Amino acid sequence: TRRPLVAGNWKMNGFKGAIAEFRAVVAAVAGGGAGHAEVLVCPPATLLAAFAAEPRGAVGVGAQDCHANPSGAHTGDLSAEMLKDAGASAIIVGHSERRADHAETDAVVHAKAVAVRRAGLTAIVCVGETRAEREAGHTLDVVGRQLAGSVPDGATAANTVVAYEPVWAIGTGLTPTPADVAEVHAMIRDRLVARFGAEGQGIRILYGGSVKPDNAAELMAVAEVDGALVGGASLKATDFMAIAGVY
Ligand code: 13P
Repeated sequence: TRRPLVAGNWKMNGFKGAIAEFRAVVAAVAGGGAGHAEVLVCPPATLLAAFAAEPRGAVGVGAQDCHANPSGAHTGDLSAEMLKDAGASAIIVGHSERRADHAETDAVVHAKAVAVRRAGLTAIVCVGETRAEREAGHTLDVVGRQLAGSVPDGATAANTVVAYEPVWAIGTGLTPTPADVAEVHAMIRDRLVARFGAEGQGIRILYGGSVKPDNAAELMAVAEVDGALVGGASLKATDFMAIAGVY
């Protein structure tokens, strides 16, 4: 059985004072507020080491991106090894904002996921269709292609998490219906099992895109939804913990 994962993606938000929100998450998790779910916070890289140095119990700290190489002449970039050194246990790769803002292809995302594994961390590999792709009826094709191209061979339940994030649901307050989420997650599960066998059965599949306290229970109850990747609502500890609290 897969342990649910509730991960917060802070994106490009947060100054040093935001450690108060992180501390509130840690306190809530220590008090049982996340039930049996695993909780991960992915702050901007500027805050990663400080958060990781906190007494934080079982709360994980993750990064939002990495370079594919372990080191070298790549000004402004951070390697998976460096992020591990700063305290990360997981790294988000292939978020749609990076695919869009930095023209990241499936091949680039694949190389980053390989780098995360090389560093001994867990890659949270993001996939998801645009509004135009959904309206054209191409959702399963697009997500299937991204999954095949972005998740490396040798993926295991320990080194890989998949996050289904419909681009049109991110930051919009719109969400797919539970039936639509179920359809995509079932396809992802089928592909993972076809490719990785029993390990594919153990790989967690998160839903992301406008997950809020008031829709979390419904979305998290969908078959093959093993947790959430939360953006805006992860910036406030009370909202984030209300989401994690469904477990
Ligand atoms: P929102 O929860 O703000 O819609 O963002 C989702 C997301 O992109 C998480 O990675």
